[in-house]
Amino acid sequence: MYPAVFEYLKPSSISEAITLLQQHGEDAKLLAGGQSLVPMMKLRIARPRYLIDIHRISDLNYIREQAGQIRCGAMTRHVQIEESELIRDRVPMLCEAASAIGDAQVRNRGTLGGGLVEADPSGDYGAVVLALNAQMKCISPRGERVIPAADFFTFAYTTALESDEILTEVIFPFPDSNSAGVYLKLERVAGDFAIAGAAVQIGLGQNGVCSTVGVGVTGAATIPQKAVSVESLLQGKKITPQLIDEAGRLIQEGAEPIEDTRGSASYKKKALSAILRRAIAESLRRAEAKRSS
Ligand SMILES: Cc1cc2nc3c(=O)[nH]c(=O)nc-3n(C[C@H](O)[C@H](O)[C@H](O)COP(=O)(O)OP(=O)(O)OC[C@H]3O[C@@H](n4cnc5c(N)ncnc54)[C@H](O)[C@@H]3O)c2cc1C
Repeated sequence: MYPAVFEYLKPSSISEAITLLQQHGEDAKLLAGGQSLVPMMKLRIARPRYLIDIHRISDLNYIREQAGQIRCGAMTRHVQIEESELIRDRVPMLCEAASAIGDAQVRNRGTLGGGLVEADPSGDYGAVVLALNAQMKCISPRGERVIPAADFFTFAYTTALESDEILTEVIFPFPDSNSAGVYLKLERVAGDFAIAGAAVQIGLGQNGVCSTVGVGVTGAATIPQKAVSVESLLQGKKITPQLIDEAGRLIQEGAEPIEDTRGSASYKKKALSAILRRAIAESLRRAEAKRSS
């Protein structure tokens, strides 16, 4: 099927894109990699009258290290994240999430910003930004604001962004140097969205107890969740196999997954528990290896 008729606009700067968004209001949509929006337009679920293509705005595509943070422009493609030495070195779980997205074609076109704003309940980046306490920088005619990851996702396919706001940058604070993280995903077949996914970053103190922890999960509800109960359980304790099992039980009890073609709610709860336990164990293994190296 073909999309409904639309006018194609191609701003070359962020300020031009903001003006266009302001001018056309609810009738306009930003086009990033088009990997979610274009299929929706073809199915006529989305029918924007104006399509504002932001892919030529070079100010939105970068990966840089600055003041103890990694800053990624919203138009950074999944493949750029997957292949970034800087990200692999500093926040490997972000590379792991990017490389788990779809297939090569999707990763070549799709963007970090598009993936986050699309807010698919089974998307991969949500868990990662929550585990790492990332921040979303946005701009609108009213100026700039920063939204913490914990406040960004409001409902399935819905975020805290206003209709005239552009996500410009995602800011990842460097995790503690004594910590290590991982993103693991359970999928039906390679390239599919997650049945369940878990991002876990664990720091170990001198005595081997968990000194810092960040946990985000996908597939537990309509939005990615910061697993605060699991973080509280692990914080300040020696992480044993029994504690990992307890974390799995906690997440399973609290989960309210959406039943869909990827599985029933009860199956997804068990899958989430299993993938979280695996992610905690792997993150711990990496943190211990780092400590003893
Ligand atoms: C076959 C297939 C498999 C996939 N598998 C996965 C997967 O396993 N895991 C996963 O996480 N994702 C998956 N995706 C989705 C993929 O990651 C998309 O790239 C992503 O969801 C949307 O990114 P995009 O850049 O293509 O955005 P677009 O499709 O261009 O836009 C998506 C939405 O975000 C808005 N938007 C985009 N950028 C901005 C911005 N900077 N500011 C404000 N609004 C903005 C658009 O207006 C639109 O509403 C898959 C997609 C396909 C087609």
